[in-house]
Amino acid sequence: MKGSKYSITRRSFIGKSSLSLASIAAAAFPAMCALVSPLEKKNNKLIPTVTGEVASNELGTTLMHEHILWFSGPRAEDPNYEPIPDNLIPETIDFALSLLNDAARVGIDTIVDLTPHRPIDLYEKIAKRTPVNIIVSTGFYRRLKSPSWKADMEDENQMEALMLKELTEGIDGTKIRAGIIKIAQEGGTLSDWEKKVFRAAARASKATGTPMATHTGNAFEQFDLLVKTGVNPHKILLSHVDVGRKGIPGELMTIAREGSYLEVDTFGQEFYTPWNELVAFIRSFCDAGFANKVIIDIDSNWHWENGQKVFEGAGPPYFDPNAASRTFAYMITDAVPRLLKSGFSMKEINTFLVDNPRNFFSNNDL
Ligand SMILES: [Zn+2]
Repeated sequence: MKGSKYSITRRSFIGKSSLSLASIAAAAFPAMCALVSPLEKKNNKLIPTVTGEVASNELGTTLMHEHILWFSGPRAEDPNYEPIPDNLIPETIDFALSLLNDAARVGIDTIVDLTPHRPIDLYEKIAKRTPVNIIVSTGFYRRLKSPSWKADMEDENQMEALMLKELTEGIDGTKIRAGIIKIAQEGGTLSDWEKKVFRAAARASKATGTPMATHTGNAFEQFDLLVKTGVNPHKILLSHVDVGRKGIPGELMTIAREGSYLEVDTFGQEFYTPWNELVAFIRSFCDAGFANKVIIDIDSNWHWENGQKVFEGAGPPYFDPNAASRTFAYMITDAVPRLLKSGFSMKEINTFLVDNPRNFFSNNDL
């Protein structure tokens, strides 16, 4: 690659980590991402984070789909659900910070938070005390798991106006702007409400040039509706598309060929995707020439339940004893070493974790 060495924002942690596999994986990272071509410089774009704008070329190692705080779990469908009891707020902040600082220690620079309804005041308190860049989202999660003021919204224009406000002015009276749009599908076919959400999101993306990430039900149906409503395919990231779940392989290949990104996030969750299938899935896209369309992350999330922190998968039906190990840092301490053992190169992993997020956010087209 041509171009000069750009100043790496990554905080060096080599030698600080007690995790030997993490050190091996991370030691190879700085050398892999130091060069930026003139074309990439031209496409550089300022991305809003909770604590200010960051150049897309300096996002570094980025997890594209995570949750700093999360409000799901079995009780989320209860309209009286109180996600974070007042007496647990200090512990909530401290715990979120510990997870972010663990991520920073293993070389993660940026986390994209895909919780589109979030207490922005808590996010601000957390972001100010961690070196990790936090990009927040606007948009709508699954209707049943959304707060009622969002779930009850029926007017497509009102949905669009909310997203535009959070993208261009700020969230909940602050100046903190969202840098990505999150939308979601409950089942295998988009409901009428979800179609409104998707069209509103498509127009907000088109108007502002903001990329979007979806919680995938039916990957091709989502892709088709978004593109027909005018979204640039290069601005679409479809989550949870790995083996056995959301896509017909041929359709996913078509989506990658059109320029959209496909996300795999079930590392360490054999009950969703067995490891060999996960590897074969990613390998098939690399072999077809679409390594530049693969995004990997953890989709780490936990919530309060009866005063206990519960990570996804810990409860019924999976009762995963390792659920709490799937933190942001898990990507570098566990998933990357395992991918290396399974035949992926550091160059490919660097493409997934550094180049692809940067290119996704750098795209200046509408
Ligand atoms: Zn998620």
